[in-house]
Amino acid sequence: MFKIRSEVQFDMAHYLSGYQGKCANIHGHRYRLVVTFSSEDLHADGQLRDMVEDFTVVKKALKEIGEAFDHKLVIEDNEEGSRLCRELEEYAVVLVPYRPTAERMAQDIYHRLQEKGLSVTEVELFETPTNSCIYSEEDTCCQ
Ligand SMILES: [Zn+2]
Repeated sequence: MFKIRSEVQFDMAHYLSGYQGKCANIHGHRYRLVVTFSSEDLHADGQLRDMVEDFTVVKKALKEIGEAFDHKLVIEDNEEGSRLCRELEEYAVVLVPYRPTAERMAQDIYHRLQEKGLSVTEVELFETPTNSCIYSEEDTCCQ
């Protein structure tokens, strides 16, 4: 099994609808996104010969993900989120169909990379230097 990793960082604010406590306020993080692409075998020929993915393509895909969230306020697309979005219309607000936790964002980013046809197998999203969520659809349990 070959695995390659690439990372990108972005600054993002989020609002956790329905959350009680310090994080109920709109606040931001420096996110660090680490993505793993894996393949049992390397490409046999062509441009990708002896590679899992082309790092240039991977870097571009991660840059696009970073730009989608960088310096944005990410809010869940529900009744409260729509109201906040209207009040903050002059700001860069991104509505997402989920509560923007590290867990749901990691899952969303995984699927965005998969839709680009990349061999993504693991997304690790650091919300702080010491807290991260790892999302994978591989069954790595109990083997
Ligand atoms: Zn937070």
